[in-house]
Amino acid sequence: MQNSTVVLFSGGQDSTICLIQAMREYEFVHCLTFDYGQRHSYEIDAARDITQQLGISSHKLINISVLNDLSSCSLTRKHLLVSNFDAQQDTDLPDTFVPGRNILFLTLASIYAYQLKVETLITGVCETDFSGYPDCRNDFILALNTAISLGMSKALIFKTPLMWLTKSETWALADTLGVLDFVMHETVTCYHGIKSDGCRQCNACHLRNTGLREYLDNSNAIKHSLYNKQNLYQTNMKIDTSI
Ligand SMILES: [Zn+2]
Repeated sequence: MQNSTVVLFSGGQDSTICLIQAMREYEFVHCLTFDYGQRHSYEIDAARDITQQLGISSHKLINISVLNDLSSCSLTRKHLLVSNFDAQQDTDLPDTFVPGRNILFLTLASIYAYQLKVETLITGVCETDFSGYPDCRNDFILALNTAISLGMSKALIFKTPLMWLTKSETWALADTLGVLDFVMHETVTCYHGIKSDGCRQCNACHLRNTGLREYLDNSNAIKHSLYNKQNLYQTNMKIDTSI
């Protein structure tokens, strides 16, 4: 078992699964949650509830409302509508995109990790969930990891356990960790802040609920696919720690 890690934790499905997996792999887990004036505070409440239920003793909540001052998008401004899921949506970035959000989150989390003398950060970003956010892509994560490690002269490692998983495989991971029901009922993924199944209309709900249906309809095959990917990426991880 490794010593300690910092988990970027939003109270959503993906970061909750990352947190529970980290608790199996690290002796001590520090959670970090950002309050940037999300359009609903339920996400922050869920994050607090979940860390309490899981017995996490180190959970830091950081107010970065400056992000809301600088950026206008439907996730940070209540008067802007969040678009419902649309299968015909063009390739433009969705109205929920907050430019620079993950750059800021990972930079602040790295400062925290540096202070704690922790070498790994875990984030639940995922390239394959089709939200189209450029700051969830693997190339970006690797580039920022390198830049921050150089800038701090410290070999930090950003871990992204969900990067190549489909949403149904993420549910399979929750199930193999024995927390499928917990994640289904305690997390907030919906852009409107509605717990569990959410509003069933927005993009986040569509991704979450479609993935869950796919997993429940075909659990064995999707678990098999998850195991194959986990083996593949564990043997092929290319993280440069020589900095
Ligand atoms: Zn929703």
